[in-house]
Amino acid sequence: MKMRKILLVEDERRIARMVQAYLAREGYRVEVAFDGEEGWSQFQALAPDLVILDLMLPRLHGLELARRIRSESNVPIIMLTARAEEADRVAGLEMGADDYVTKPFSLRELAARVRAVLRRVEGAGNREVIEAGPLKIDLAAREVYLGEKPVELTPTEFDLLSFLARHPGRVFTRRELLEAIQERAYASLPRTIDSHIKNLRRKIEPEPTKPTFILTVHGVGYKFRPEKGG
Ligand code: CA
Repeated sequence: MKMRKILLVEDERRIARMVQAYLAREGYRVEVAFDGEEGWSQFQALAPDLVILDLMLPRLHGLELARRIRSESNVPIIMLTARAEEADRVAGLEMGADDYVTKPFSLRELAARVRAVLRRVEGAGNREVIEAGPLKIDLAAREVYLGEKPVELTPTEFDLLSFLARHPGRVFTRRELLEAIQERAYASLPRTIDSHIKNLRRKIEPEPTKPTFILTVHGVGYKFRPEKGG
């Protein structure tokens, strides 16, 4: 199996070295950048399979770096945040980060997230294609089309959309959706689901404020539109 490349952007050298050593033992090749600008140049040079990104970085803020990366790539991003940075965390998810880990974190937990995110991206052999009107979700290829046009989704957006679409008409709470797209719910906030849904709607809905695919069920959560006659 090909060795996965991870770019770690973290200015606290002690943490960076610990994470690097731990993930290297888990079989990943880990490159470290110690500030945002260095992170950006390394991202372009390395083309990593996954980015682990601290938010509070010198020279270029982690959110800005996430935005730059997203403008070029759907590479999975895991954010590292302090407990007090909730607003940044939500902003990061809106920016298209796939997951976050709150400091202080255990190396085992981080490694579990890395594995889960990479597994989601690489997908398992599932032949199914889900169609709902003009929306087509190819579960095997992890591709989404609107009519003939491909839609670029982040790994988390794809997982959320395909999970909902596999159960049309069924209502899920935010907590259930979090659990569905992650191995375990860990400490994620239910409202992170709202950010992902907002991003998804922007990408697949002709009018994101009048959604036709993923419907809001007030006071409960979300559902994918029911099948005709169902
Ligand atoms: Ca920092």
